Amino acid sequence: MTEDRVLFDIIRREEERQNTTVQLIASENFTSRAVMAATGSVLTNKYSEGYPGKRYYGGNRVIDEAEDLARRRACELFGADHANVQPHSGANANLAAYMAVLEPGDTVLGMRLDQGGHLTHGSPVNASGRLYHFVSYGVTESDERLDLDQLAALADEHHPKMIVAGATAYPRIIDPEPIRRIADAAGALFLFDAAHVAGLIAGGVHPNPVGVADIVTFTTHKTLRGPRGGAILCREELAAAIDKAVFPGLQGGPLEHVIAAKAVAFLEASQPEFREYAAQIVRNARALAEGLAAEGFRIVSGGTDNHLMLVDLRPFDGDLTGKAAQEALDRAGITLNKNQIPGDPRSPFVCSGLRIGTPAVTTAGMGEAEMGHIARLIGRVLRRPGDTAEIDAVREEVAVLCSKFTPYP
Ligand SMILES: *Cc1c(COP(=O)(O)O)cnc(C)c1O
Repeated sequence: MTEDRVLFDIIRREEERQNTTVQLIASENFTSRAVMAATGSVLTNKYSEGYPGKRYYGGNRVIDEAEDLARRRACELFGADHANVQPHSGANANLAAYMAVLEPGDTVLGMRLDQGGHLTHGSPVNASGRLYHFVSYGVTESDERLDLDQLAALADEHHPKMIVAGATAYPRIIDPEPIRRIADAAGALFLFDAAHVAGLIAGGVHPNPVGVADIVTFTTHKTLRGPRGGAILCREELAAAIDKAVFPGLQGGPLEHVIAAKAVAFLEASQPEFREYAAQIVRNARALAEGLAAEGFRIVSGGTDNHLMLVDLRPFDGDLTGKAAQEALDRAGITLNKNQIPGDPRSPFVCSGLRIGTPAVTTAGMGEAEMGHIARLIGRVLRRPGDTAEIDAVREEVAVLCSKFTPYP
């Protein structure tokens, strides 16, 4: 099996990178060995177009058990009527949800991409923006939190068929209740995209949108810590339309090895340890945000109550771009991404901010003390981003830190 030396050496080097550098990308995590074992199993060999009990090919009796288990566990974890666990990704889950209830040209409200929304919430370069008429809402200028008044006004003005909530770079709790009220007043459907916060919801530290929103989509690989993939939860009335939109609407054969790994992840997320994990993610994010504020960075909206924070670099150093900061930190072994901040004067390729998340470092076992340490290391690098000696010194400290918190020893 490992005769392909070239490829398996690449995998070995990637494992080494993950073990020896600090992973602060807010959408990443370290899955368990059990999740990886399921993903690497013989289930990858099976074609099973359709759904359990209604497959197009033979030989699916055993596979049906795996997918049924995944669906049942997803419903139990989130308290949903129905789960579709086949979407290959969060983007596919969203597109399938749109296909299930919208017609091309329908009006939809979604969060502005430059204020935290996702590509699949109406970007002109994404199918969502090409097929549907998205109108964007954003955050307030004063406190940089979701502008519910603006959302209500836009809903009143545009009579959308659906409101999409959820974000990819927003550091505060998104409470589904007031959005439900706005959707009801406008006669709109309500989709909650929980891609980032599914693990925080499962772990009981964020409000559960299931039962409030009509449809909830999520990814299984972010805070939820499962394999790379997506899923959709909905009320029973929408189940048939959702299933039809995923297959045959959008996808062919499901990835049953990944679906099996999703089942493993749902079980893991239902354990008491996962509740502790989710709470620690948030404590770590707060500690890191406080540490960065002490280094002189401005934290967008003044802090965080989820797994991520947005850092405005401008007050720290007006000439330092997100792109340059990301590159300097990468050289020091600290992996994160540049990000636009609300009202960013720079382009999305350059950016004035950083997005920093704690799901992966929390899985690795780090706590608030390590967050303070990482904040100081980030401060050191970004005060002198061109100083290679300083970057090398920080890289050394990062290596020592990671040797104590190795995800895959
Ligand atoms: C990550 C994300 C997605 C897409 O997930 P992929 O698996 O990368 O396709 C969708 N919506 C939001 C809000 C996200 O953050």
